[in-house]
Amino acid sequence: MPTALSPERPRTGVTRLTGGRLVKGDRLVEEDLWISSVTGRILRSQEVFYEHFVIPDETIDLKNKILCPGFIDVQFNGAFGFDFSTVPEDLTDYQKGLKRFNRHLVRTGVTSYLPTLPSQNADVYHKVLRYLAPSGGSRNALEGSESLGAHCEGPFISPTKNGIHSLEVLQEAPNGFADLETCYGAGNLNHPAEESRSPVTMITAAPEIHGISTCIPEVTKRGIRFAIGHTEASYEEASEAIHLGATMITHLFNAMRPLHHRNPGIFGVLGKAEGRERPYFGVISDGIHLHPTTVKIAWNAHPEGFILVTDAQYTAGLPDGVYPWTNNDRWVKKGHLLTREGSDTIAGSSATLIECVSNFWAWSHASIPEVIRAVTATPAEMLGLKGVKGTLDADADADLVVLDAVEDAEGNRTLKVEQVWKFGMLVSDAADESFGL
Ligand SMILES: [Zn+2]
Repeated sequence: MPTALSPERPRTGVTRLTGGRLVKGDRLVEEDLWISSVTGRILRSQEVFYEHFVIPDETIDLKNKILCPGFIDVQFNGAFGFDFSTVPEDLTDYQKGLKRFNRHLVRTGVTSYLPTLPSQNADVYHKVLRYLAPSGGSRNALEGSESLGAHCEGPFISPTKNGIHSLEVLQEAPNGFADLETCYGAGNLNHPAEESRSPVTMITAAPEIHGISTCIPEVTKRGIRFAIGHTEASYEEASEAIHLGATMITHLFNAMRPLHHRNPGIFGVLGKAEGRERPYFGVISDGIHLHPTTVKIAWNAHPEGFILVTDAQYTAGLPDGVYPWTNNDRWVKKGHLLTREGSDTIAGSSATLIECVSNFWAWSHASIPEVIRAVTATPAEMLGLKGVKGTLDADADADLVVLDAVEDAEGNRTLKVEQVWKFGMLVSDAADESFGL
């Protein structure tokens, strides 16, 4: 329980979190964390207390729970009935839906994310990308989860590895980067000479598609992450894409050639090779997209690049049933399984990130810090946000999750989100359902 605040003492906006086990690097550390809702950042606790004599407004006892950075999901198509790529007649409805979505999402522990658009016609990008830009400027905890910019997954992808992406909208880029500008909108792609961040943070494309590999240096020069995905690329083609600046693999194993002993395909680039960087890679550990052993193999191959993503669709958080999708297609949702009606094609997931994190902890022999890293420090590094997000170090944003880690007598392991803090403010508390945004 928070300590009482004396009425005469002015509020400082400072909270001291005590009695928790903090995820710091590869260790769980028992120490206090001081945060400010004024700056929205983690404070240098020694300095604040001993040099500036700041008394916290509240001291909260975490009762031995795990305290970790807020989760980051870099592949998120929608949830709770809201789909980033469905454009309503009236765009103010889109804005309202997005606001509601952000307040819902933060309760799941995802404090920042990349809203993801599977392949679309240009007019969809031109209409909605502006609303999905990084929302960092406002730093308002009451808005809930924060966009770190859009992830455009397609439409420059392989027609034979399209998954549920509509074939009619797929494109090639014979004119190079100019085709990307026409498709996404030139103003939505950072201009190297401008300071402010444009809406697009990451592009997933297939490097073997005509004109795409030559675009990679221009994409990365603009501070946009290039991810390889939905692709027929061979090991050699993927290696070349990395050499040109690709730093990420989108949902490893799904919608790409499988590992073959004579051509290791994209999985091969996780291995060490002279003169080539090893990329980050997204993994969907929802229990459906990949076998638990496959997930563990990927993690063991390159733990520093391992990022858990949900690839959640708008049906996440909705009851089981049949739901409409584009082109008169329909989806069938059964638990976490989401398929195109009348087929076995997986249509993304309906899982939450904490469920994926919990699965990975249950399946692997990874420690809690190693598991948490896959949704905090590693995605932050991939996005160039090291020290800002995904860490409990001083000066980082005070986006926090309090977790309950349960291991029963049979060795079953579960992680649950207990509290979520955004920019130094408590925004969700499982112990008090009435509390929240
Ligand atoms: Zn995909």
